[in-house]
Amino acid sequence: MSNAYILSDMTWLEAKEAFVKAELAVIPVGSFEQHAPYMTFEVDSARAYGFAKLLGEKLYPRVIVAPPITFGISHHHMKFPGTITLEHDTFFAVIRDVVRSLMKHGIKQFFLTNGHGGNNPSLEVMIVRLRHELGIKVAYAFISATGGEVTRNRSKTVSVDGHCGEGETSQAMYLAPHVVRPERIVPGTVKGYPYKHLGRSTGIAYPSNWEELTENGALGDATAASAELGKQVIDAAQIKTSEFLVDFMDKNACK
Ligand SMILES: [Zn+2]
Repeated sequence: MSNAYILSDMTWLEAKEAFVKAELAVIPVGSFEQHAPYMTFEVDSARAYGFAKLLGEKLYPRVIVAPPITFGISHHHMKFPGTITLEHDTFFAVIRDVVRSLMKHGIKQFFLTNGHGGNNPSLEVMIVRLRHELGIKVAYAFISATGGEVTRNRSKTVSVDGHCGEGETSQAMYLAPHVVRPERIVPGTVKGYPYKHLGRSTGIAYPSNWEELTENGALGDATAASAELGKQVIDAAQIKTSEFLVDFMDKNACK
């Protein structure tokens, strides 16, 4: 493994040195929610952290990787035993306090790597508030979207974007194989949307609970998932986000 500033692996003396060089903190954000009968609750957090660590290696010594936020917005999965959710206010407060703490150590630029689509609406609002309330530069990436083109072009199944589908499961196999039980993979028992004209791009939104959409918790079919596809998706997502971050750190105009 090449060099990277991973805060969880450091002593305070090592951190003190790292904060002299680091310009930006990467904060991984995940969830603690059901991931079908074949992946553990840790999937989103493990992918977000794994992705952040790769950025830490690629952009060493300019970035430092914070420990992951392992709870997110998962109200829609609460019918599945074991899921734990934060309220939106708590989620914001936790991330704001992590940001404020890192600001005290000299960091003024932040990037959140998000592993859970259900966090996106909250993060959209959050980065606006953090920018304007704390005066920092902050952006976030939804990992699955940054690698979405590769996922759509190279996967074998049609509904690849879904929760625990071929795309997400492949990412997990590559970034955090310990969260996947390959021998238990079965297709999602998808029911479709509970009302007419709901969907990602129809213009009508409704907060469906997951049990309304699928019986076994999966949307999509992960039977063709592979670590090879996961690597291709993550490599493309890494190129895009690291290029963004270099530009982001180089230009200080929009503080
Ligand atoms: Zn997930």
